[in-house]
Amino acid sequence: MTFKAVLVRKTDAGQSTELVKLTDADLPEGDVTVAIDYSTVNYKDGIAITGRGNIIQKFPLVPGIDLAGTVEASSDPAFQVGDKVVVHGWGLGVTHHGGFAQRARVPGKWLTRLPSTISTRQAAAIGTAGFTAMLSVLALEHNGITPDSGDVLVTGANGGVGSVSIALLSKLGYRVVASTGRPNEAEYLRALGAAEIIDRNTLSQPSQRPILPPRWAGAIDSVGSHTLVNVLAQTQYGGTVASFGLAQGIDLPGTVLPFILRGVTLAGVDSVNAPSAKRIESYKRLAIDLDAAKLESMVTVVGLAEAADVARSIFGGTIRGRVIVDVNA
Ligand code: NDP
Repeated sequence: MTFKAVLVRKTDAGQSTELVKLTDADLPEGDVTVAIDYSTVNYKDGIAITGRGNIIQKFPLVPGIDLAGTVEASSDPAFQVGDKVVVHGWGLGVTHHGGFAQRARVPGKWLTRLPSTISTRQAAAIGTAGFTAMLSVLALEHNGITPDSGDVLVTGANGGVGSVSIALLSKLGYRVVASTGRPNEAEYLRALGAAEIIDRNTLSQPSQRPILPPRWAGAIDSVGSHTLVNVLAQTQYGGTVASFGLAQGIDLPGTVLPFILRGVTLAGVDSVNAPSAKRIESYKRLAIDLDAAKLESMVTVVGLAEAADVARSIFGGTIRGRVIVDVNA
């Protein structure tokens, strides 16, 4: 039996992608075979497919760092045929054939069983981005930031992580301030739950002062670089900033003053190797704290044949919210 997949190849001329037919014999080792319903397009997929960073470690490879689907065969006693499952990160689309295909075979420990209230389509809409947003909210909560603590800033607001973060925080009762370079999307951001919208240029310039008037009880940052430095400098006493992104850059050209004068916490968030217990906790919370209608409002659906082009376009700053890939379309 053949199935469709996107394959990335590398030659001296660079990387290329092609829609191909594979068979189960082409799938890597793993305990569980999954019939994929949906994959997704994340910022990291853009880096992987364009070859801008060394994301793909092995060629040729099926890209796609997310998949959601149904277990078709399993030698892992934790998973039965028919289970609805999701995979975010681990080696998917990096060292191991990923989600831009109709089938996958993965180690059972990479899988998270979906709560009955979350469909595979919704799991894909959540994807790595939504999972990261949930991990970031958990980091703020872990550090004692409550809706009474004050405003929470979300940078990269129109992006995948930003959009889901706004929806989660607003449902939990936080007053959310959205930072964006796309003021024309204000209506979308307000519908997700942003109470206020600020221009990202107010945060993205090199900092003139290492500590600034306190503004944020917490922040969820997709951007890094000068933006993260300025956010830290504006964070109030005892506040927490969750950092996971690098949309502006990987540098952090700041000072320690926010930490040593205001007791600010910089909480690092990693979705790729997050342990299974954290994934299960996150999905339990996403089932309760993420408004299904808001999630749907973030979604654009593309077919497998379009997925690579959409991933290449992610740096153009025109993609809003979450792109899901219907691999059977
Ligand atoms: P998206 O491309 O969906 O969103 C990124 C957003 O960042 C854009 O929509 C834009 O928002 C903003 N942005 C883009 N370029 C710049 C810039 N030069 N300066 C300031 N803001 C900018 O990406 P994701 O939401 O999928 O991911 C966000 C970031 O988080 C990425 O860097 C990604 O690599 C990282 N990430 C890390 C994870 C981890 O495990 N550590 C997991 C998931 C993501 P707007 O138009 O509103 O300004």
